[in-house]
Amino acid sequence: MQETERREKNIRRKVLVVDDEAVNRRLLGFIISRDYEVIYAENGTQALELIRENERTLSLIMLDLLMPEMDGYELLEILHADGHLHRIPVIVLTSEKSAEVKSLQLGAADFIPKPYDMPEVILARVHRSIELAEDNIMIHETETDELTGLYTKGFFFQYCSRHDRYFPDNPMDALVLNINRFHLVNHLNGRDFGDRLLTAVADIIRKRLENSDFLACRCEADTFYIYIAHREDYDTLLPECIDQLSEEFGAQKINVRVGIYPNVDMSMDIEERFDRASLACNRQRGVYGTSFSFYDEELRQRELYEERLINEVDRALDERQFIVYYQPKYNIKGDKPALASAEALIRWKHPELGMISPGAFIPLFESNGLIQKLDRYVWREAAAQIKRWKDAYGRTVPVSVNVSRMDVYDPELESLLLGIVSSNGLAPNEYLLEITESAYTDNSDQIINTVEKLRADGFRVEMDDFGSGYSSLNMLTALPIDALKLDMKFIRNIARGNKEMRMVELIIEIAAFLKVPVIAEGVETEEQYRLLKDVGCDIIQGFYFSRPVPPEEFNKLIEAEL
Ligand code: C2E
Ligand code: MG
Ligand code: MG
Repeated sequence: MQETERREKNIRRKVLVVDDEAVNRRLLGFIISRDYEVIYAENGTQALELIRENERTLSLIMLDLLMPEMDGYELLEILHADGHLHRIPVIVLTSEKSAEVKSLQLGAADFIPKPYDMPEVILARVHRSIELAEDNIMIHETETDELTGLYTKGFFFQYCSRHDRYFPDNPMDALVLNINRFHLVNHLNGRDFGDRLLTAVADIIRKRLENSDFLACRCEADTFYIYIAHREDYDTLLPECIDQLSEEFGAQKINVRVGIYPNVDMSMDIEERFDRASLACNRQRGVYGTSFSFYDEELRQRELYEERLINEVDRALDERQFIVYYQPKYNIKGDKPALASAEALIRWKHPELGMISPGAFIPLFESNGLIQKLDRYVWREAAAQIKRWKDAYGRTVPVSVNVSRMDVYDPELESLLLGIVSSNGLAPNEYLLEITESAYTDNSDQIINTVEKLRADGFRVEMDDFGSGYSSLNMLTALPIDALKLDMKFIRNIARGNKEMRMVELIIEIAAFLKVPVIAEGVETEEQYRLLKDVGCDIIQGFYFSRPVPPEEFNKLIEAEL
């Protein structure tokens, strides 16, 4: 989710109070600020500015008619004629009965007579005007999902919010339910079966919860959201539901996972409450069988931490808190290992959190797109570093950079990389790209296409983490690559004659067949090094030679070979 969007979603509905008299503004503000975020203007001109600024988030305008500069009528006229602004409801504040007709003609939604009395009445009218306006917008969408009869997502969220408004003190739970490996179930049994399954889940939700206060929707393909009065019996309720499902589907084992955010925080945006339940649900991904999990303190802390990292990326980039380390790769074919290239690996030197390793933020930034910014930064740094080494030592130490899955789909990728190398006076063949194996299996056509173009430009491409994904032999032969980087998990456990060792040997044979060198990553010990050398591995990267180090320290590795 974009940062601005997140900020906007987090706030309560916003109401603009326009009145030239400070005492009136204060009084109205006092009454409605319990339920709404209130902003103020003293005249029509000021109001129009604020309306334009808050166009997307403003739920209601409360407008005095008699004001200096631009009066209420004039503002009403402008709003009424505007293609976008006319959807924001306006309540007119007036002491004159006669003003009502004219205001109505100009599109006002309601009136509140001056002087103000009965705060409850005022609040009720505000609620109602907003609700009516929102209903109006929604009439164009469909209310229920055709297949299951449950609400669609948009309506579901609206009804949840409405429920909260009527029963703000009822404790509620947010549930997210997902069918395990639904795509596989669908694939194996056909779409009809999949549809029957989804319908059955919806029926069970309806029947089982019949006597409770609840709302439910099918949110995406196989994801259901349920908003329900707080209860304590999930550990009996959920297994019962599953039993019922098993009865219907017999031999075909169906499992679901459920995430529960109990006793939701009512001040929080409704969608974010379900984000929390989703977090709890996702924690169960990969767990065998039916399972459920609660949103708890651990998840909360993680969420806060991640939120913080996300919010601080831009500043960290500006302040150069990200630093690039380099880890050497040595060619071990000859008598003496020779420095072949280096891998650029990012670190975050956070002023308060200390050194953060990429494992803590790369997956997070991959999930929200921020990774592209970060990767670009690293790519530039790496190119500049190759150039510095070239100038200082008269030799090229090619550097490989990691290219994320998301970068591969970026139509600008090729021109961007070409720009980076040429602006540093380098040739593409001095620059290496690492692309993880699983990116290839995601969408092989597109990636093969991209990689072919990059290689035609002269870049060399290494397949990272090879053996962690599911490349078929077939696919491998079609792949345009310049090196295979063995996944670290093979190396960790290799010993003469064991399974991992045989896998490594096999991969080295495949590589020989493809005529590409093999790079072994994560080599830590002399023994691992020997074993790999004996079976014909070409290049080695790992703590055995060096950890990833800052450029000044890497200088020494280059100097050692001079
Ligand atoms: P990777 O690309 O497979 O990088 C190799 C990782 O193995 C690095 O972890 C490196 O420090 C670690 N390593 C190297 N030798 C050894 C060893 O002998 N033993 C052990 N236990 N580990 C070793 P690091 O730096 O923590 O990076 C982790 C992952 O984060 C990388 O895996 C890569 O996928 C990602 N990453 C790092 N920097 C970037 C970046 O700039 N962009 C992108 N997209 N991903 C990055
Ligand atoms: Mg890598
Ligand atoms: Mg790797």
